[in-house]
This record gives sequence, C-alpha cells and structure tokens, in this order.
Amino acid sequence: MAKITTIIPCYNEATVLPLLFDRFTAAADRWQMDWNVICVDDGSSDSTWEVLCRQNSLDSRWQALALARNFGHQTAVSAGLYHADGDVAVVIDADLQDPPEELGRFIDKWREGYDVVYAIRKQRKEGPLKRFCYWSFYRLAAPLVSFPIPLDTGDFCVMDRKVVDVLKSMPERNRFVRGLRAWAGFKQTGLEYERQARAAGEVKYTFRKLLKLALDGIFSFSLVPLKLATWLGFVVSLLASGGILFTMIQRLFPRWFAGIGLEPVPGYATIVIAVLFMGGVQLTCLGILGEYLGRIFDEVKRRPQWVFRDSVGVRGRVPPP
Ligand code: UDP
Ligand code: MG
Repeated sequence: MAKITTIIPCYNEATVLPLLFDRFTAAADRWQMDWNVICVDDGSSDSTWEVLCRQNSLDSRWQALALARNFGHQTAVSAGLYHADGDVAVVIDADLQDPPEELGRFIDKWREGYDVVYAIRKQRKEGPLKRFCYWSFYRLAAPLVSFPIPLDTGDFCVMDRKVVDVLKSMPERNRFVRGLRAWAGFKQTGLEYERQARAAGEVKYTFRKLLKLALDGIFSFSLVPLKLATWLGFVVSLLASGGILFTMIQRLFPRWFAGIGLEPVPGYATIVIAVLFMGGVQLTCLGILGEYLGRIFDEVKRRPQWVFRDSVGVRGRVPPP
C-alpha cells in the first residue's frame, strides 16, 4: 500500500492540536493508505512540544521534530519535507484553516497521475485588508516570474515523491515553498476549496513575516525588478534630457515662449522636484539591489537552513541539511 506523509508546521499551536489530532486521524483513516504525520515544532514557547510527544506515545503515526528556535513557517515546512518518507507528501497548516477532510479529493487527483495537486483558495475568512494584500501580491508577482505560479494558492497541497526530492535538493535559505514547488514543474493541477477560519489560537503570521514571504516570492524568483531599475534609470535620463533641451530652446527664443505663456521664470520648485525625483529613483534602485544582495549574502554564508533540537518517532537521527 502506498504511504502518505503529512507535514504540519506548528508554532504555539497547543490549543488547536487536540482538535487537529482528532479530525486529521478520522480523515486519514478513510484514505486507504499507510500514513504518518511529521509535525514540526517551529520553536514554540507554549506546550506544543509536550502535546506532540504525548500524541506520539498514543499513536506512533504522529511523529514530530523540534527546531532549535523559530525559523519561520517556510523553513519548518522544508525541514518536515526533508524527512518525509512516504510515496506522496501533504503540507497542511495546524490551525484547521485547510480542512483535512478535503484531502481525499486531492489524493484522488494524485492517483489519476498528477504530481502536484495544490489548493486554490476560493474564499478567505479573513479581514478585507489581508485579503487585498494576498490578492495584489499574486497579481503582482505572477507576471514577474518566468514560469507559471498559480494564483491564490498556499502551501496546502499533495505532492508526489519526485517533487519532494526536487525540493529537498534545493539548497536555498530564503525559501518560498509554493514558488519552488511551481518551479519544479511536472504535472500540476489545482482544486478549489473554501479556506476556513482558524479553529483555535491566534494567527502566527505577523505583518512582518508576511511581508518577508512576499519579498522572498518576488526577489527569489524574478530578475525583473533589477531590469526595472535599469529601465527606470533610462526613462528618467530621457526625461531629464528632454528638460535640458526644452530649457535651451526656451532661452534662445524667450519672446516666442512668452507669447504662449511659457516665459522663463526662476523656478526653485522645478529644481527641488527634479532633485527629489532623482533621489527617489536612485534610492529605489539601491533598495532593489539591496534585496538581491542580502539574499546572495544569506546564500554564500552556507549556514544550515535549520537546526534541530529534538525528535520523536522520526526514523534516523536528524542529519544536517
Ligand atoms: N507557523 C510556523 N512558524 C511561524 C509562523 C507560523 O510554523 O513562524 C505555522 C503555524 O503554526 C500554522 C501555519 O504556519 O500552522 C500558518 O500560520 P498562521 O495560521 O498563523 O498564518 P495564516 O497562513 O493563517 O495567515
Ligand atoms: Mg492560519
């Protein structure tokens, strides 16, 4: 029988975990597959780790890894996938926003021969501001990237072993898992589902973490912003030369220009605006360079992507990535 491994990143999720254990186990028992779950404790400060250990002693299919500190959701997912031993893997959040009952449909698609079945969020039970941010991110990022990134998808998905192996072989530090997954290619398809409200506990994605995720999504996958800087510089230079030319002609034929109401006036405003505009463009371009440079810096240090603190039930001592 084929085996399915589910990766669940958990950061201070002690309140929601008991619900998750019940609902997930009930759903998974209907898949007619061998299954195990690897929960990754992403440096929680509540009793998440104790709850996970207790669950492992009750049901050995529930296994867990603990990271040495809070490395972030994408790293936690990557660390879990690194240890996925099934023929197929699932990534799902701990908070039951992605209902485990939906996974049956996804697994059927995998059985039909698809290598990645990702979930498309039909409707989000979140505030309008967050919904707008997500919406605009996907519309902004997709055209910048040279391979198709499906819109409105998250990390919730079913992936074949071969895709997991591709993800495992990727050494990068600033990981945007859904982008890496799309990059891998193979046969991919999406299924719509309704994203629920959180079953319990607080949102762990702060605005800062969300912004970092969005920037990783763009700057780790696209060189378009760098090219944009060049084009912006070009357009501004063109505007400036136009301005110079205009001023020269204006000085040569002041009377004619006065006739159409454009006599030369000493204009501080124009100078100030031009200086500010140029300054703004230069800083933007420097910022774009900085985004790439910072990521290159992270990569060349070649630090491990994560550090393990502990594990229960995961076979083999956790090797460094
Ligand atoms: N999470 C994590 N590390 C973090 C933040 C979040 O492992 O630093 C986990 C969290 O426990 C949850 C999932 O990532 O299982 C999604 O987080 P959350 O529900 O807070 O954010 P949402 O995606 O719903 O905005
Ligand atoms: Mg959530």
